[in-house]
Amino acid sequence: MTAGAPDPIDRRGLAPRFWERKSLSEMSSAEWEALCDGCGKCCLNKLEDEETGEVALTRVACRLFDDTTCRCARYETRHAYVPECIVLKPDTIADHAYWLPVTCAYKLLWEGRPLYPWHPLISGDPESVHAARVSMRSRTVPEFAVDEDAWEDHIIDEPV
Ligand code: SF4
Ligand code: SF4
Repeated sequence: MTAGAPDPIDRRGLAPRFWERKSLSEMSSAEWEALCDGCGKCCLNKLEDEETGEVALTRVACRLFDDTTCRCARYETRHAYVPECIVLKPDTIADHAYWLPVTCAYKLLWEGRPLYPWHPLISGDPESVHAARVSMRSRTVPEFAVDEDAWEDHIIDEPV
């Protein structure tokens, strides 16, 4: 860790570069959790073109997303409020990779690609994802404030 801000994800005690030496299904739960870069983009509402299957992410965030922390405000109990929130696991990532953001660490590794230098596991700094402007910190609108018909006005360009 290089910055003063505490890492909301516990990445202590993990083997160096474990993600380059283990497959997703070989990782411990701590290693799996540490892969999340904290970008918050999987908490955005998406639009899917029924004909082409193309997916666009919008800056309209899930009602539980706190964009000051860039985290779920009720992560442990979220399914009581948002039953459709997915649980990403090694055996479910194939079903979800198509809509995950292009920078998502799970998607990158699943595709056999390396992590970006701003990933906290590489930079040692949980702020680096925000400094690289890859995250949604302070950049969302809550879903209760935007009519669903207007979501397309809030489509974001990736990887921004
Ligand atoms: S998109 Fe991927 S890396 Fe970003 S917060 Fe969601 S799970 Fe973590
Ligand atoms: S319930 Fe929490 S983790 Fe799930 S999409 Fe909403 S903010 Fe994200």
